[in-house]
Amino acid sequence: NKNSGSGDFLPRDLQLFPEAFFHVEANQSVKLFVICELYGTMKKVLEAACFAARKHRKQKRKGIDGTPYINHPLEVAWLLNAVGGVTDEEVLSAAILHDTVEDSGTTPEELEAHFGKVVAGYVIEVSDDKELPKEERKRLQVEHAPHLTYGAKLIKIGDRIANLRSIVSDPPSGWPVEQQIRYFEWSRAVFTALGPINAPLEELFLREYEEGFRIVAARNNSSEETMK
Ligand code: ZN
Repeated sequence: NKNSGSGDFLPRDLQLFPEAFFHVEANQSVKLFVICELYGTMKKVLEAACFAARKHRKQKRKGIDGTPYINHPLEVAWLLNAVGGVTDEEVLSAAILHDTVEDSGTTPEELEAHFGKVVAGYVIEVSDDKELPKEERKRLQVEHAPHLTYGAKLIKIGDRIANLRSIVSDPPSGWPVEQQIRYFEWSRAVFTALGPINAPLEELFLREYEEGFRIVAARNNSSEETMK
């Protein structure tokens, strides 16, 4: 509980005069609470953004554009907030951090020390076991999807939307069209396994899936055409 224990939940001036918080009129105190709540949210989420940016600083996305890796987790968090209306700081922070364990060698302990158990827990939930072969990992993602916590499900759907968009706008170099199509189909299987989560995000996934699939399939047709 962020209201108990350390005082760093409160903005600096309220940390210095915590009694002020309790001596204001009732509705004023609600307003102050809302301000503190927003301040707290932003603080943790921005810390997560700095942490993830540092961890991914040498990585690029798989596309030919060579986009900095951090663009991806930032897009996931932005989608959750802007489309899904998610304001939970732990979910948004975990969305930004979601690939740090799997792709940047960050340990769950490190995440827990910086961002607490809840955030670390979400990231672990959405991280694959890198010891397993790729196909097995993808199969397990579908199998595990229905059993994830609500926060982890939100991150999953955001991750699927962002990745489908990347395949359309900047396909991974060296991926044949068949592989892009398989990726779309697998993402759809994950989406279905997640079940109902958040209507606007579900609608967006389906739209990106349908439009994206058409674009990717057309790539297939044109490449076949040129081969004839
Ligand atoms: Zn991701």
